[in-house]
Amino acid sequence: QAKPTRSDIESAIRNIPDFPKPGIQFKDITPVLADPRLFAGSIDLLIGNFKPGMVDAIVGIDARGFIFAAAAALKLEAGFVPVRKKGKLPYQTHEQSYDLEYGANAIAIHIDAVKPGSRVLLIDDLLATGGTAAAAASLLQKVGAEILEISFLIELKFLAGRDKLQNYPVRSIISY
Ligand code: AMP
Repeated sequence: QAKPTRSDIESAIRNIPDFPKPGIQFKDITPVLADPRLFAGSIDLLIGNFKPGMVDAIVGIDARGFIFAAAAALKLEAGFVPVRKKGKLPYQTHEQSYDLEYGANAIAIHIDAVKPGSRVLLIDDLLATGGTAAAAASLLQKVGAEILEISFLIELKFLAGRDKLQNYPVRSIISY
């Protein structure tokens, strides 16, 4: 069976208007996950040119980022590291807060999540304003990781999230 293209994956992404708030167009990736061909294809595209041995850990952002990062970790024979919403990780953490449209949020990483100098990829499902990924990148700096790339299945270009990630190579598979 032929590998799916970006447009095959894009066709399966479902737009949900006004979720979770009026004015937000939510990109629902669950139909991509439910289709084994599209799920596998999206992992291959997220991995890009990385091969086993090139990366020590894949870091996924709570919660949909976990799904893609964990699958990519198995393929790249790398470890998986979760960046979670504040208050969820059981051991000692570093925390980083970031601004939302209204209010603020905080995410956390275990202080020993990676060995200093580890080569990591950071993965999330979607890049919007970039606040979440920038906060995750600063947590990775705190634990001494070397970020090889930050990749997203979806990028909302009109929100210019990349501007907050200028210190890193950023790649996305599908953009709007
Ligand atoms: P941001 O910090 O603004 O880049 O937001 C990115 C995070 O919020 C990601 O973890 C996404 O899962 C989620 N997110 C933001 N906007 C959307 C959207 N329109 N559809 C789905 N998820 C979104």
